[in-house]
Amino acid sequence: MKAIALFSGGLDSTLAMKLIIDQGIDVLAININTGFGSTKDRLSHMQNMCAQVGAELKIIDIQSEYLQDVLFDPKHGYGKNFNPCIDCHAKMFAVAKRIMEAEGASFLISGEVMGQRPMSQNKEAMQTVLNESNCEGLLLRPMSAKRLEPTIPEIEGWVDRERLEEIVGRSRDRQMELAREIGLEDFESPGGGCLLTDENFSKKMVDFIKYDTFEVGDIPVMKFGRHLRLPDGAKLVLGRNKEDNPHLQEIQNEKYSHLKTVGFPGPHGLLSKSASQSDKELAAKIMLTYCKTSPEESYTVSLDEQEMQASPLESKEQVQPYTIL
Ligand code: SF4
Repeated sequence: MKAIALFSGGLDSTLAMKLIIDQGIDVLAININTGFGSTKDRLSHMQNMCAQVGAELKIIDIQSEYLQDVLFDPKHGYGKNFNPCIDCHAKMFAVAKRIMEAEGASFLISGEVMGQRPMSQNKEAMQTVLNESNCEGLLLRPMSAKRLEPTIPEIEGWVDRERLEEIVGRSRDRQMELAREIGLEDFESPGGGCLLTDENFSKKMVDFIKYDTFEVGDIPVMKFGRHLRLPDGAKLVLGRNKEDNPHLQEIQNEKYSHLKTVGFPGPHGLLSKSASQSDKELAAKIMLTYCKTSPEESYTVSLDEQEMQASPLESKEQVQPYTIL
């Protein structure tokens, strides 16, 4: 008997897997990559959690499918920010079901706890998710199982319902107790979760789609740096710090040129390839405003292969009208 677990790396999904593995069932943990997960590399954390409970881990990349089917026209709308949680969950369950069939597994599990999160995890929302993903009866949520209708694995006796949990609500007490009982270590997950729930990230998304079609290659561009929109419509991204700059340097996206200072340190920039001459000149000035420079002097900057001369603006306040975030 084998089950597929929707695995986020968090404590709840780790404990849910452990409850099923303890009943002699193999668990394949799948982590679904929408592209909008936290910017910190969580792979080693996920590997560590799976190793501690004895599950195998697979990362499933659905970035392109996610942009096409979920992000821009969610049937159930958005949460507080750019997060289409109900549609997103339904997509994840549909993907998990696909994998279940391909792997010859018998059912699905997730770490969801009833009533823990207001929008996506109340009973009604969960039911919608199950209906839309055709997972009715196949999805067992071990953490709240005793408070939910019995699922196929429980009815068929593959899983003993009595050995599952009945956690409801936001308190973490029972989860902590379970973690202690099984000796789980280092379970605090690093990173900040889903970027689509972040207000600032959402502002950048809203701005982006006013000007351009959003593609998979644009996801990394959105994750780093200061984002600006110039008067003729070009997008400018400037590294804010030593962490942003290497990430921006690595980006190879045919929509953007790389903007750099020549012969002195400065932030790394990305500028729309379609930028007008006046947006290019302004981008150079803005970048120089964030360097140790003087408005009275002229400096060399490069835009891909092209070099140009520019002076910084008088002050950072002058950058404000163009700043999205
Ligand atoms: S928080 Fe993000 S990953 Fe989670 S369901 Fe909502 S949109 Fe999807």
